[in-house]
Amino acid sequence: MAMVKANAYGHGLLPVATFLQDVVRADWFGVATTEEGVALRRAGITRPILVLGGFWFGQEAAIVHYDLATTLPDPDYLPVLEQAASQAGRTVAVHLEIDTGIGRLGLSPDQFTTVLERLKACPHLRLDGLMTHFASADLPEHADFTRDQIRRHALAVQQARAAGWTPRYIHLANSAGLHAFLPEAAGNLVRLGGLLYGIAGDALSPAFPPPPTQPVLSLHARILGLKTVPPGTPLGYGCTFVTRRPTRVATVPLGYGDGLHRIQSNRGQVIVRGRKVPIIGRVSMDVTMLDVTDVPDVALGNVATFIGSQGETTITAEEYAAVMGSIALEATTALTARVPRCYRAAAMSSAPGGREDTPASACK
Ligand SMILES: *Cc1c(COP(=O)(O)O)cnc(C)c1O
Repeated sequence: MAMVKANAYGHGLLPVATFLQDVVRADWFGVATTEEGVALRRAGITRPILVLGGFWFGQEAAIVHYDLATTLPDPDYLPVLEQAASQAGRTVAVHLEIDTGIGRLGLSPDQFTTVLERLKACPHLRLDGLMTHFASADLPEHADFTRDQIRRHALAVQQARAAGWTPRYIHLANSAGLHAFLPEAAGNLVRLGGLLYGIAGDALSPAFPPPPTQPVLSLHARILGLKTVPPGTPLGYGCTFVTRRPTRVATVPLGYGDGLHRIQSNRGQVIVRGRKVPIIGRVSMDVTMLDVTDVPDVALGNVATFIGSQGETTITAEEYAAVMGSIALEATTALTARVPRCYRAAAMSSAPGGREDTPASACK
C-alpha cells in the first residue's frame, strides 16, 4: 500500500499517485482523509484506496460513491455507513484497525468485539482487512513492545476468524515495521510511506542496516538578488543578524510561505556553488538571505540547495529537519502548494499536475 496522504508526504499527490499506479503498479493507496481519497478517484486512480482516518459523519455517501475502503475509528460509524451503502445498492470494504498499543485511531478490544458483532447486521459492509499500527517499531529499546503489538494483532485476527470472518488483508507494518520486524510483521500487505520516498534516515531502526534507497525529493531556489553590505548592517525583520564584515548577501525566493520553517532563521545551511553557507537573518514569508561572502563567483540565478546535493556536498532532509528539532517527514510534508514540483522521471512528466503545470523556468 503506497501511502500518499498529506500530498504524498509533500511530493505532490496526483503526479506521484499516477506514477505509482501506472509505473510502479502499487496494489493499494493509503490516505488519511476522505477528501484525499476523493481527489485520487477524481484524478483517475482506479486501484483500491483505504482511508486510514475513516470518514466524518456526512461523508459516508462519498465513501460509497467513490468506492473507497475505510477504517471505522468508532462503532458509531457502522450504522451510517451501512445505511449509505444500502441506499446506493453497493458494498463498502471495511478495514478494522485494532489498537494494539499506539492508543490512537484503532478500536479498543471492547470496541472491536462490538463492531464484529454489529457487522453481522450490515450486509452492505464487507470486512476486507484487519490492521494495526506500530507505535515505535523504529526504536530497538521498544522491540518487546512491538512484538507485543504483533501478538495482540494475531489474537484479534484469531478472534475474528473464530467468529466466522474471513478478512482478505492482514496488515501491520509501516516503514519502520517492514525494516525491523520481518517476517512477523509482514501480513499480506504493508503500508509504506517514508521508505517509499527514500526517507530512511530518522524513521527507521538504527539496529539494522539502512535499506538501499535514495531520497526522491530535493529542494532548491535560485539566487534572486545579490549585494555587498558593510560591517554593522542589520538584515531582515527584527534585525536579528548584524554583519561583522563586508558581507555578500544573496536573497532567495523561498520562505515560510513555501514551508521553510522560520526556526531555520540564523541556524540553517544551504549549498551554493558546492559549498555550505549559512542562512542569515529571519526567514520571512517569501524570502530568505544567505551569506555567500566566502563563495567565489556567485551570480544571479545560481542554485541554492536546501535539501539535496551539489557535487560532493549534501544536505539530507534529515539534516535539514534536525535544525528545527524535527524529522524529515515533517520537513517534506510542510512544503506548500506554492513550491513548483518538478518531476524528473520521463514517466512522471506526463502525470496530471506534473511538469506541464509548472512554469518551465522553474524546472530547469
Ligand atoms: C502514515 C501511516 C503509515 C506510513 O508510515 P511510514 O512510517 O511513513 O511508512 C502507515 N500506516 C498508518 C496507519 C499511517 O498513518
